[in-house]
Amino acid sequence: MMNTFIPTAVGGFLAKQGLTALDIKAVLLDMDGVLFDSMPIHAYTWNKTIAEEGLHMSKEEAYLHEGRTGRSTIEIVFRELLKREPTYEEVTRIYGKKAALFDSLPEAPVMQGALALLDTIAADDLTRILVTGSGQKLLLDRINHHFPGHFGPDRMVTAFDVTQGKPHPEPYLKGLQKAGVQAHQALVVENAPLGVESAKAAGLFTIAVNTGPLDDSYLAPADLIFHSLDELTQAWPELMKSCRELYLPGHSCRKP
Ligand code: CA
Repeated sequence: MMNTFIPTAVGGFLAKQGLTALDIKAVLLDMDGVLFDSMPIHAYTWNKTIAEEGLHMSKEEAYLHEGRTGRSTIEIVFRELLKREPTYEEVTRIYGKKAALFDSLPEAPVMQGALALLDTIAADDLTRILVTGSGQKLLLDRINHHFPGHFGPDRMVTAFDVTQGKPHPEPYLKGLQKAGVQAHQALVVENAPLGVESAKAAGLFTIAVNTGPLDDSYLAPADLIFHSLDELTQAWPELMKSCRELYLPGHSCRKP
């Protein structure tokens, strides 16, 4: 049976962006909840660290904040519950505690299907760029261990590279810069509502993979939604075919 949802998504994106075609050369991938199944640990450590401050952040809220920098997450909690801004010392201390607790726990497993997806992308000769709000040093070291050859230091955008975290477009704009490509030449793979918002704000075709507990409706701004990396890998050839072959009707076609 022919599936039409991928060509429809690509066609819809072209029409909305006023583009005539996609010319994919790079894939920008988020880390937590995409390459590593680390979100349950992030949700647990945020919930516990914030509770130790006498404040409250539910695990669901942690998923909704996913992608923000630690600073921005702490600022939101303080504004909501204490009606004031945290001091620099408070942010440093609380995020330091959260990160230390995270590092003390067993390592987050690699997401099912992550290496197969990266190998599939590499086989199409597309540059892989990591775009994460994370400043968790251990996870970044693990990237090279688990996905050798896929991301060098010049192919990573982390918390240390940006002044504005997701949902601001800066992380994905930096990702384009590192790849040396333009918006119509890249795809994004994201799992979080704010990550999708960031990628869309950067003008990018955005694939959401819902690997967490939130309802799909939170990811609705994405151009495509899958429920596992395996599902995305399976759809990859058709996605690439649609990107190569689809042109906005009424516009002159670029030679493939
Ligand atoms: Ca994520």
